[in-house]
Amino acid sequence: MIGRIVKEAAIDHREGTSGLIFNEPLLWERGSKGRTAFSMPKCDVPEAAVDADLVRDDLDLPDLSELEVVRHYTRLSQWNFGVDSGMYPLGSCTMKYNPKINDKLATLPGFARAHPLQDDELSQGVLEMVWNLEQFLSAITGLGATSLQPAAGAHGEYAGMQVFAAYHRSQGRQRTKILIPDTAHGTNPASAALCGYTSVGIKIGADGILDPAEVAELMDEDTAGIMITNPNTLGLFESNLKEIADIVHAKGGLLYGDGANMNAILGVADLGRIGVDVLHFNLHKTFSTPHGGGGPGSGPICVAGHLEQFLPVPRVVKDGEMFRVVDECGTALGSLHPFFGQIGVMLRAYCYILSLGADGLRRTSEMAVLNANYIKEKLKDVYELAFDQPCMHEAVFSDGKQKDHGVTTLDIAKRLMDLGYHPPTIYFPLIVHGAIMIEPTESESKQQIDAFIEAMRAIAIEAEQDPELLKASPQRFKVGRLDEVAAARKPVLQG
Ligand SMILES: *Cc1c(COP(=O)(O)O)cnc(C)c1O
Repeated sequence: MIGRIVKEAAIDHREGTSGLIFNEPLLWERGSKGRTAFSMPKCDVPEAAVDADLVRDDLDLPDLSELEVVRHYTRLSQWNFGVDSGMYPLGSCTMKYNPKINDKLATLPGFARAHPLQDDELSQGVLEMVWNLEQFLSAITGLGATSLQPAAGAHGEYAGMQVFAAYHRSQGRQRTKILIPDTAHGTNPASAALCGYTSVGIKIGADGILDPAEVAELMDEDTAGIMITNPNTLGLFESNLKEIADIVHAKGGLLYGDGANMNAILGVADLGRIGVDVLHFNLHKTFSTPHGGGGPGSGPICVAGHLEQFLPVPRVVKDGEMFRVVDECGTALGSLHPFFGQIGVMLRAYCYILSLGADGLRRTSEMAVLNANYIKEKLKDVYELAFDQPCMHEAVFSDGKQKDHGVTTLDIAKRLMDLGYHPPTIYFPLIVHGAIMIEPTESESKQQIDAFIEAMRAIAIEAEQDPELLKASPQRFKVGRLDEVAAARKPVLQG
């Protein structure tokens, strides 16, 4: 009985997902022969015969009215779940709201129609934007120089590892290893491996962050440096970073900062002063590009002044009042990307940064951190918290308390869909068994966050009183549990 009441109460604040319950036939299953979406004006020239070879009669295309086509695609668009339709607390991804004005500005014809082979003289606006954005990102990180070339976060890591390799070459000896803590993002060891490095794992301390003594133990002169995700994938700030930087530098190594989570520390932490040598941003996470569907993204790297010579080309330089493109540079990596990178994503970031200003960016991070801590405090009595201490932009829980009732993280995530929310990131980071990683971002109102908390609390009660319900969720959709492994291994790519 209580279970039923909870179910109904929880469903009360369901919103935004009803599009997912429509059935939608294929276009071929609709329509009727001869129905069309257009009408041609009456022919006012003599009819001529068409060469029979040019006429194809083997095409099986459906005949539909305009309204049928519009409805079909509108419904399909509603099967999607995005930040614009509901709260999307997907940890590690910063699925925040991207102001639409930035999309509009990024498609201004002067930018959108600029051609990368246009002369510098005809491209001053774009080049000035690129140059200014590089200055902004350098200022935000406290580092010396920036390249906007990399096309995604992992591409930035790859570029950063190439900078490491170029630096060590310039020192006369290549090194073979990279230290990577358990709390790094999974792309970090992959990027290091692509550049020929062997990654050496470091266990984190009992408080969820790196212990400098562990780093000192492993750091040697065959190790190119360390890659640290900060804030780390537990949502914790690596507060020993300065000490770690000193240990790594003393052995001639470099410190890579994975800055995909910069949304938590904009205007708060000066990474240059802390000792970071190379850092990538995810413009598509932190600075206003809708993402999650596979791109486009942008993963600029910022480097300490002494590494600027190794940045990829082309670079934009300011020459008096003019901005120029420089294609060669002695020790540079060469080019990572045709032309300049993802100009549209850069424009969104540029507009976002300009519209918020330094104070606004700082406030963004403060609110993102406040929201995550609010959720952490409001849920920690019903969900096991991996590390009970102040978090940054995300809080990592687990199914520790629900397991006794046979309810797992996956069940909780599926049930949240019934209640109108995109599930959080689950089973990541790997070091927390059954992880549930929640990142609310700064965009959500207190009212919305309270509704989410209420849904999570209702699920915790359901887990005790009606575990079968959770095992059978989601229930409000056309399809229930999918075989996610089969979907990846044997994808059906045809309608
Ligand atoms: C998202 C993310 C990445 C990878 O970024 P992509 O743009 O998806 O390649 C790297 N590190 C961290 C910490 C991330 O959250």
